[in-house]
Amino acid sequence: MCGIVGYVGEKNAQDFLVSGLKRLEYRGYDSAGIVTLGADGEATLVRAKGKISNLEEKLAGAKRNDTIGIGHTRWATHGEPSERNAHPHQAGPIYLVHNGIIENYKELKKALKDFDFKSETDSEVLAALIESFYGEGKYPLANAVVQALKLVKGTYGIAVVSVLKPDEIVVARSGSPLVIGIGHDETLIASDASALLGHTKQAIYLNDGEVATVTEKSVEIKTLNAEPVSAKVEEIETNLAAIQKGGYEHFLLKEIMEQPDSLTETLRGRMNLEDGVVHLGGPGLSEAELRKIKHLVIVGCGTAYHAGLLAGYYIEKFTPEITVEAVIASEYRYRQAYIPEDSVALIVSQSGETADTLACLREIKKQGVKTIGIVNAIGSTIAREVDGGTYVHVGPEISVASTKAFTSQVIAMVMFGLTIAQAKGVKSGILKPYVSEIARMPEEIRKVLDEVRGEVEKIAGKYTKYEHGIYLGRDVAYPTAMEGALKLKEISYVDANAYAFGELKHGPLALIDDRFFEMALLPDGELYDKAVSNVQEVLARGGHIIAATNVDKFDLPVETVVKITTDIELFAPILMNLVSQLFAYYMTIAKGYDVDQPRNLAKSVTVE
Ligand code: GLU
Repeated sequence: MCGIVGYVGEKNAQDFLVSGLKRLEYRGYDSAGIVTLGADGEATLVRAKGKISNLEEKLAGAKRNDTIGIGHTRWATHGEPSERNAHPHQAGPIYLVHNGIIENYKELKKALKDFDFKSETDSEVLAALIESFYGEGKYPLANAVVQALKLVKGTYGIAVVSVLKPDEIVVARSGSPLVIGIGHDETLIASDASALLGHTKQAIYLNDGEVATVTEKSVEIKTLNAEPVSAKVEEIETNLAAIQKGGYEHFLLKEIMEQPDSLTETLRGRMNLEDGVVHLGGPGLSEAELRKIKHLVIVGCGTAYHAGLLAGYYIEKFTPEITVEAVIASEYRYRQAYIPEDSVALIVSQSGETADTLACLREIKKQGVKTIGIVNAIGSTIAREVDGGTYVHVGPEISVASTKAFTSQVIAMVMFGLTIAQAKGVKSGILKPYVSEIARMPEEIRKVLDEVRGEVEKIAGKYTKYEHGIYLGRDVAYPTAMEGALKLKEISYVDANAYAFGELKHGPLALIDDRFFEMALLPDGELYDKAVSNVQEVLARGGHIIAATNVDKFDLPVETVVKITTDIELFAPILMNLVSQLFAYYMTIAKGYDVDQPRNLAKSVTVE
């Protein structure tokens, strides 16, 4: 959440700061600001409410040739989105941008009673605290930052500059990512490596508890306890094309449509079709360790949680003597749940920075349980802290609503389940159908997207009149329905909830009226007839049903049918989820809302 950028070098700092913030805008977009410093010690601070384009307009009247500066795009936690609360925050000669939450800001604010606070943010308190240790430049800026951070509880990624030393930026992190890009005669700062692309591919990923002083030509890193750290320079793996729209109008549509390719990347080198065997190197568990597993805890938030639920249904089907519990990270971290012996935890996060998921990972590790990351962002904090892991390799997911990551997270976890089942000696006759369907999924996804895209676009336009959506499914279609409902509410702002078909008569059936439509996911298979009875119950009460189904001779008198032609059976719900993704997308377009950056949300949730 939120984006941080910084520049020190020979070029125009404002140019990089603005272009970098634009790349990070999907991480927070309620306000933005930059400050640059002139050699004369003059600071130019420009802040604006709303999107980066508003900031750009204001900057047109404040052009400077300064070669050092920091910038921020905010996702408000403390204080409304406004210019006053936008970062950078000033305290005397110091300017600070902050990503995260200072939990003890009230206490600190009381102690700083002489400071004239101008915003409601927790971040300004940190700026003031740093200034109180700076002694008007008597002490190095990094020392003042360290003194202040030692008093802070919470999470932070920060960048700080001082007009008294306009040739250095001090950065630090605890719980929020920070990357230092090493260029030629320039050093760049960003909270996500994507902002650095086109400038450099060499980066240093700062670790929690580290503070760095960065100049045009040097990077000096120390821990909060003043121990020097030798920096590891790594290659940034993403490329520019991956973070551009590639001819699509929105990132969301691009990401939905690229699922055949992104899933192919997830599968690459990990399947042997002839033997019907899955090879996952990343988890790093021996055959004996895999054989012993009796319980999986899958930890995630939002879409990652749904992916865990769905994968759990599959894994329990083909692996004997195993139970799977998918949990919501923000709940689980405080549950003090006992994790039984012979458990492994799967830690699922697209960004690899999700604050609650990261906190769970750390708690679970304390219990001595092996942790396996199911992560997309290479080199992210979760990826670095887990015992082993499987990257999903879907490339950058820029749109706030997750689509391609979901599909690949489910399949990656099912593949992990298959490696356990293989080790436990489950008959290949049981596993082969799963392996062979997984191998065919990229192509089937391509076919289904082609088949249904135009149709769903037409349907979505007609369904904008409804105030509420109910998503329904049984068995594997139930977590899929949950994911569909989440997609709709997060981008189209239509209230949507999911229920297991069997739960309808225990309450939700009372809701059915003309304000509601129902999205019924109806995969062919063992439980199809039961779902049909539930559909009848909704029809009998005047429901407005859209049925997404792969049943050949579907003949229920529902309002709308979206037919999927496929011979995929086990993973048909994942194909139906494509209908839900497209439906949410086109519904949002029809309503005229911002698809990629829905209100109140942001990507990569690094706050609790
Ligand atoms: N807590 C800070 C604020 O509300 C930073 C939020 C962010 O990470 O964007 O301003």
